[in-house]
Amino acid sequence: MSRTIRVYFCERSRRSLKVTTIGIVVALLASGFAFEWAKGLYLYLALGVAICGVAVMYGGMLYLDRSRCPKCSTRIGFRVNQYRLVRLPGRYGRVMDACPKCSSSFDEAMPSQ
Ligand SMILES: [Zn+2]
Repeated sequence: MSRTIRVYFCERSRRSLKVTTIGIVVALLASGFAFEWAKGLYLYLALGVAICGVAVMYGGMLYLDRSRCPKCSTRIGFRVNQYRLVRLPGRYGRVMDACPKCSSSFDEAMPSQ
């Protein structure tokens, strides 16, 4: 079974969500620790970890944002995030079915690199 373009974007979207969530959790835990218990050196250490968490969060979002169409290599990651990729029963919203630039369907197989 060959991977479709839709599966490719779903995988990137899921990976991005995972990394972004980890970043948010790390940032919240570290800043909570910093402001509640940390003193002296540990305060700076905890704030450093919190800043790293925020950086990881932005990295996760940027990863999806930089996703390109595998056919015409236009950056369409931000659109993938705005629209739903999979039609779900009982949920509304527009579903993205094709690349807006080259209009190749997301149900086509991934072109081999
Ligand atoms: Zn395209």
